[in-house]
Amino acid sequence: MSTSPTPVRVALLGCGNVGSALATLVAGQHDEIQLRTGLDITITGIAVRDLSIDRGIDVAPEVFTDDISSLVIADNVDIVIELIGGIEPAKSLILAALAAGKPVITGNKALLAEHGAELYKAAEAGGVDLLFEAAVAGGIPLMRPLRESLLGEPINRVLGIINGTTNYILTQMTENGASYQDALAEAQELGYAEADPTADVEGFDAGAKAAIIATIAFGASVVADDVHHEGISTITKSDIEYAGRNGHVIKLVAVAERLAATDGGPDEIAVRVHPAMVPLSHPLAAVRDSFNAVFIEGGAVGELMLYGRGAGGEPTASAVLGDLIDAAANWRAGTHAYFGPLPVAAIRSIDDLESAYCLTLNVRDETGVLAEVATTFGNHGVSIKSMEQSGLGDEAQIIFITHVAPERDVRATLDELRNLDRVRSVGAVLRVVSGG
Ligand code: NAP
Repeated sequence: MSTSPTPVRVALLGCGNVGSALATLVAGQHDEIQLRTGLDITITGIAVRDLSIDRGIDVAPEVFTDDISSLVIADNVDIVIELIGGIEPAKSLILAALAAGKPVITGNKALLAEHGAELYKAAEAGGVDLLFEAAVAGGIPLMRPLRESLLGEPINRVLGIINGTTNYILTQMTENGASYQDALAEAQELGYAEADPTADVEGFDAGAKAAIIATIAFGASVVADDVHHEGISTITKSDIEYAGRNGHVIKLVAVAERLAATDGGPDEIAVRVHPAMVPLSHPLAAVRDSFNAVFIEGGAVGELMLYGRGAGGEPTASAVLGDLIDAAANWRAGTHAYFGPLPVAAIRSIDDLESAYCLTLNVRDETGVLAEVATTFGNHGVSIKSMEQSGLGDEAQIIFITHVAPERDVRATLDELRNLDRVRSVGAVLRVVSGG
């Protein structure tokens, strides 16, 4: 028995890198999607700021509008896709669509990492979907595996390389001996890095994505402000070389962990982004160039890794299309995804976390400097596992690997070291990733 396809009319807000790739993908896959799902999906309205720009896509001019507020609540729109980015007007537009009973798909990590809880609540109140696969790790299916396949999984930790720009820069430094500045300039030339690269290289972008991952992985609301972040701009060639000599590679990692509370209360969640020494034996060490990967450690499933393109118009459009089909099927069935009550997460402060560290000190190589430095570590109970000295005179450098120690004690050690006459400066502070 065959039934007639269900027409699904879609409003697309934004037609830039991702929006234009999505419009092409939806048209190109239309027949295949209809055959396999019975959904006849058409983009019937596209809102942009500048109607005079040629978007390079095969869409009739009358589909475009610059009246975005009317499009989002129009009667002849069933589903809204938000791809304009930023907080406002994106937030108000999404709330208006949800209040009008329209499922929404977005790729807006900045918005979700700040106002996710309010938006999920609005979707629940409207009885419709709010899906956002594209907001984290671009084309890699991650949100749906976390909220469906792994919903019952006791996830302990999620480790991710979720910023392609920094992974490209660190790969150039590792494999071609490039300096940070040269690798950044090359990333900018290739379009992997913005003219102002701060959001990527200082860990803000990865921090927003990590907040969303933690929220969905652990079922409790984590916002961008809860995420401790450090960037890669202080990493030097000698840090990279030291890591290589010692069987590690330096990566900017996002870590989201669930930790048992010390007082017997609800589990605590710790989320951070920082450069780290990743053992070459760990699967994340093999993630090169601008690729992303997310490594999940579950209590039952064990270790899983999802790998792919974390950005770019087409990979990201692929994630949006997956959500669109999901939302359309739910809309046809009169149902929607539910994310749970998402209580505010109990966040464990970075000060209360423990790790092994790799610390670089630039020192004056004078008699007694090593003893003085070692005493300082001892004063704070931070135990040294190994050390390596290089250079002479004023140019000497000592790199220490510590045993696992509390962050608070390592910081106190570094503060005291900075005040020693013979310590010229403290260089990279890298956590050492365990496992793999
Ligand atoms: P983009 O290239 O800058 O495109 C933004 C589009 O939104 C443009 O077409 C712009 O119109 C339109 N727009 C912006 N403000 C508007 C307004 N107030 N009214 C109407 N139209 C407006 O951005 P993108 O790279 O496609 O990214 C879109 C979203 O996807 C962002 O949330 C981003 O974080 C997310 N995302 C992107 C990637 C990626 O690789 N690019 C990956 C993952 C997630 P005009 O062209 O007329 O100015």
